[in-house]
Amino acid sequence: MIIVLRPNITKKAEKEILSEIRKLGYKPHVMRGVSRTVIGAIGDEQTHHTLETLTAFEQVESVTPIQKRYKLVSREAHAEDSTITLPNGAVIGGKELVVMAGPCSVEDEKQLMTTAEAVAEAGAKVLRGGAFKPRTSPYEFQGLGEKGLKLLAKARKATGLPIITELLSENHADMVAEYADVLQIGTRNAQNFQLLIAAAKTGKPVLLKRGMAQRIEEWLLAGEYVLSNNNPGLMFCERGIRTFETFTRNTLDLSAIPILKRASHCPVVIDPSQGSGRADLVAAMCKGAVAMGADSLLIEVHPNPAEAWSDGAQQLSLDGFKDLMLELEPFKAAAGRE
Ligand code: PEP
Ligand code: MN
Repeated sequence: MIIVLRPNITKKAEKEILSEIRKLGYKPHVMRGVSRTVIGAIGDEQTHHTLETLTAFEQVESVTPIQKRYKLVSREAHAEDSTITLPNGAVIGGKELVVMAGPCSVEDEKQLMTTAEAVAEAGAKVLRGGAFKPRTSPYEFQGLGEKGLKLLAKARKATGLPIITELLSENHADMVAEYADVLQIGTRNAQNFQLLIAAAKTGKPVLLKRGMAQRIEEWLLAGEYVLSNNNPGLMFCERGIRTFETFTRNTLDLSAIPILKRASHCPVVIDPSQGSGRADLVAAMCKGAVAMGADSLLIEVHPNPAEAWSDGAQQLSLDGFKDLMLELEPFKAAAGRE
């Protein structure tokens, strides 16, 4: 912790502050400048008090932590990029740009199989599909539940694509993990810490979406719950944040890519579908994301978006997805991706 003292501090007040720091279990190092004195307090913040309460002293101007609050997700903890290898050999966080694609929701066998075959053919390496849907209204389609998971497993068998699907509740952790290759934690549960722990404990890789009003530091700290529960398979997924803008459903924060790449070793995924809410913006968002260093894309694709049971406005058609995959090639090459 760095404690900055006010310029006019008296000797007596300084002594009091130093003794308080010692009392709280820290070792103070005093650094005297021309106009100000700064104290570096060394100690373990996990076992000791955080020292933030020192701001209660009138003569203390500020108290700033030196160490980052997130540890295991940080680059300091792991200098190399982390990679996650899926059952089909796809490596997320490596040289390859891994595209995950499929419908927002699993609706029926024909819809899922048609989509799975088309996205596999176009070059996707993971099939997405929601079986448990976190709908804003309880009167909207809630997903097929386990029946949807069974259909996903069937589509995996037919195409060889591993599957990613959302885990909505701790109660379902074991069941969903039995079918899924990657567990998706949605924006609405981004800080449901018990759910994050339950997901981590399944041992399956976890894709953690950004909360719709979550700061990046909070998101990194949420990721810390996965890594600190002995699951190294964490990836962060930016899916847009809520702003005042209404042209788009969410504001896709592409600046999260270089920020996360610098702050963390975990792979970064971009979801341009929830991120824009508009099929006509998905391609541009993907190109930007690839150019900025995203490791993976999570894209909604439906055989007939106009009739989708959820998120119709943002889903690409099968042809739209195929075209996008071709359009991405020069962007991948420019970004040094395979
Ligand atoms: C989804 O991927 O369909 C979804 C519900 O995502 P989010 O949690 O980002 O809204
Ligand atoms: Mn969706």
